[in-house]
Amino acid sequence: MSDDTEFWLWDLEVETVLDGRTPVCRHVEGEAFRVEGEALVFPEGARVSMYALAALLPLLPAKQRPTDPADWMSTDAEVACPDPHCGGRFRIRRTARRTFSHAATTGLPDRRGTPYWEDEA
Ligand SMILES: [Zn+2]
Repeated sequence: MSDDTEFWLWDLEVETVLDGRTPVCRHVEGEAFRVEGEALVFPEGARVSMYALAALLPLLPAKQRPTDPADWMSTDAEVACPDPHCGGRFRIRRTARRTFSHAATTGLPDRRGTPYWEDEA
């Protein structure tokens, strides 16, 4: 494999939705954060329940990657808050493709190039 091989991931937006349900945790309808590569990007002052975030985190890397159109990961977009009494849901939307290079993201020492965040500056 060449060290300059590129790949892409979806940027994501994760929005809190209630649709009339009652939240138990602090879930504010419409509040959202973005996922860009490995980074969670919060607007100024935004807050997310750590319990809800714990439920969301395992799914985000899969949602970032290309998936078969028939795969439920492609079609199902809402994740429930793990509190069974809570009406909070989180809608994950794919927004744009972001390209990365293997050399800028790998941890393999013999293939490692300039980290991607140093090229963003
Ligand atoms: Zn909740």
